Amino acid sequence: MRFRRAIPLILLAAVLTALLPADSRSAIPSPEQYFGFKPGTDRELVHWRDMVKYFYALEKNSDRIRVMHMGPSTMGHPFLVLLISSPKNLANLEELRKINKALSDPRGIDDATLDSYMKKGKAVICQSMGLHSSEVGGTQSAPGIAHALVSGEDGQTRRILDNVLFFMIPCFNPDGDIMINEWYHKYKGTRYEGIGMPWLYHKYIGHDTNRDGDFLNMVESRYAARLMYVEWPPQAYIDHHQMGSYGPRFFVPPYCEPIRPHADPLIWREISWYGAHIAHKLEEREIKGVINDAMFPGWGHFGWHWITPFHNIAGMLTESASARLASPLYIHPEQLKGGARQFPKYEAQSTFPNPWEGGWWRLEDIVKQIHVAAVALLDHAARNRQAVLRGAVLKARRQIRRGFEGEVNAVIVPAEQHDSLTAVIMINTLMKSGIEIRQARGDFESGRRLFPKGSFIIPLAQPKMGLIRNLLMETRYVDNEWTRARDGSILRPYDLSTHTMNEFMGIRTEAVKLGEMPPAETLVRAIVPRGRVDHENEVRVLDGRLNASYKAVNMLLAGGAAIARVHTATDSLQPGDFMVVSADDGLIERAAEETGVDFRGVMDPPRREVRPLRPARTGMYRRYWGGNMDEGWTRFLFDTFRFPYTTLRDADFAAGRLRGKFDVIVFPDDSPHMIKGKIPERYRRWISTDIPEEYKSGLGEKEIKNLKAFVWEGGRLVMFNRAWKFAAEVFDLQVTDITERLAGNKFFCSGSTIRADFAADHPLAAGMPRHGLVLFTGGPVFEILPGRHNEDYTTVVRYAQKNLLKSGWLVGEEVMAGKPAMVTARYGKGEIVLIGFRVQHRAQTHGTFKLLFNMLYR
Ligand SMILES: [Zn+2]
Repeated sequence: MRFRRAIPLILLAAVLTALLPADSRSAIPSPEQYFGFKPGTDRELVHWRDMVKYFYALEKNSDRIRVMHMGPSTMGHPFLVLLISSPKNLANLEELRKINKALSDPRGIDDATLDSYMKKGKAVICQSMGLHSSEVGGTQSAPGIAHALVSGEDGQTRRILDNVLFFMIPCFNPDGDIMINEWYHKYKGTRYEGIGMPWLYHKYIGHDTNRDGDFLNMVESRYAARLMYVEWPPQAYIDHHQMGSYGPRFFVPPYCEPIRPHADPLIWREISWYGAHIAHKLEEREIKGVINDAMFPGWGHFGWHWITPFHNIAGMLTESASARLASPLYIHPEQLKGGARQFPKYEAQSTFPNPWEGGWWRLEDIVKQIHVAAVALLDHAARNRQAVLRGAVLKARRQIRRGFEGEVNAVIVPAEQHDSLTAVIMINTLMKSGIEIRQARGDFESGRRLFPKGSFIIPLAQPKMGLIRNLLMETRYVDNEWTRARDGSILRPYDLSTHTMNEFMGIRTEAVKLGEMPPAETLVRAIVPRGRVDHENEVRVLDGRLNASYKAVNMLLAGGAAIARVHTATDSLQPGDFMVVSADDGLIERAAEETGVDFRGVMDPPRREVRPLRPARTGMYRRYWGGNMDEGWTRFLFDTFRFPYTTLRDADFAAGRLRGKFDVIVFPDDSPHMIKGKIPERYRRWISTDIPEEYKSGLGEKEIKNLKAFVWEGGRLVMFNRAWKFAAEVFDLQVTDITERLAGNKFFCSGSTIRADFAADHPLAAGMPRHGLVLFTGGPVFEILPGRHNEDYTTVVRYAQKNLLKSGWLVGEEVMAGKPAMVTARYGKGEIVLIGFRVQHRAQTHGTFKLLFNMLYR
């Protein structure tokens, strides 16, 4: 038999190949095949549920990827980490983990061993794709990046797989990702397509998912901490974000000025080193509008990319310009603006050599540039694996040496504290950060100070020295050319000016120079205090100085116990102590176990010096306009301490009869126009008013009238920070904010700890020490104006007379010296409480929680 025409050989080969069993690579589904569209396509978003399935499908079909299920998110969705590397590396993880640990903490390991580790070890790189759910590009780029690495056969991919262990957090906040996805699809194809969601994209904290890298209040944060602070400290970390739409297209590292002190200097060099490679790769691909060394300073908050440098991790971020969620946005050339730090005008400069000229901006552009940047980081680490690992050892060793040689070499957390159980929370949080802590076996002395047995010793001679200094030692923000404009006006810190954990928590610490380490145990696991219960006496007492006592009390009250609060000191009781008059024994045992609070027996309980305690019926206002993180954090705090509460919407205020339903109404930190729903023109850039009517929240005349009746009839209204002004206007209070009349340079204080005095005999300050610290963040400084009813006003907290600043940045100390910080005002049978500082900021300021808690009882 003859063919009429010879089949070309190449075609024959193709036919034969198709008949062979598919090799494993071609069985790996591409995102496009799997989802039916390429992630990044206009007006499409992959749902987290489908993305999770896709990652498991990759794992099933490839030996280059492991899916690590870290646990459920706050609302119960899977929180995943993908580990991508060569099959050989993945088969040798235990060995590589040991090596990585040794390189990040080389104490007690000889040079020869470390040398061999640097040869055998792999660069560990972590990237978080979607911290902020409205910034959809990061998580949408995750499947494409994973697929490229799992299926690629090119030299770069092989080099990355052989040299790098890549831990990808494809979505840091699955709950928010799902909410945004569903929100987007709800309005797709309507006039509201692409508008922002009216509430927080997390059960509690929304955008603050990136403000919890130090206190680790959220489960998502704890998963990330376990990965990066303890089990697999990476050498480099990036989280990918989006910013506003009308500036550069892409920010990549390094940061600009100023930088926060106490990182190893090599960190800042590494960040520039990685950043240069990323920027270079982007220019190679002709991606326009890339900026570095501008906009984002090296001294920021303690979210992930900004805290990791103090863990000796080159912590970085990228920021892409935003579209409208997944919908494209058209931008006119003249709408593009400069005006950020080290980027005065939208024109070419050495750190921004290739300006983008405007036009359509799409999710596809965002996904593409994040993909290039993410792979560039891996590529750079792969090419320079040995230098990356040597850097890990150098940073750790030098930080240890600095800690050892410094003017102080240890931070002591004395066993005796005003609130010793809160000190335990702090110690446990520091341990979750991978900080080594010891507990003294006996009393010891340092610098003529005696510290009791059980005190905690945190030696600075450890790799995380820089973190310890920032969290536990007085910190002053810089006041220099980088933080002032040419006219001397202040360039606000990116976030708080200090993150001194012990100061926020009301915990006494002392930095000391120890001659030698006293006998001590190294803590290996979290401390779980178990409260003791006295069974000899009928009446038991809880220490009113402990925050945890409030939780115990709330558990008991919910179980029907009778509790009273002591208001006058007796032989065995302090004002503020809680007296359990009657309660079920099982309930007491459970409360003691869960809270760690001792139930101390009293032989001779006072009858008259106590007031019966009942839980207040508490309501808290919740608005739309994107939600209010302070409201979310406050709910988190209430849930944590088991305070019952009701969320109040506009309709609840409109319905009236509030006094019949509530004893206390709380307004979280907010500006008066947000509460009233009157959005000023200057805010319209961030807050769209072109939204469905049902999400235009705000208290109008009727709602305000009912709120006034609530207080008049005996309710208590609590206003946090900036919300004070709403009450001042509505109730015509004799209170003013002194700082409003001052020019910008005369007073500035943002995110600083300030010395204050608490009126310990006032019921709202029960359990507080006489003197302490409050966190001040751009709030009011009150003055009670002279008037006919001065007696209606009481100052519960007052700023100290001098030497106000503990940590942070304060310009114009004399403005706030001695001024009221927390004021109550009588109105009818009720009262209004104004708090000018951050009483419960991000559930971090444990030192002032009691001022809030005291208001939530009757
Ligand atoms: Zn972001």
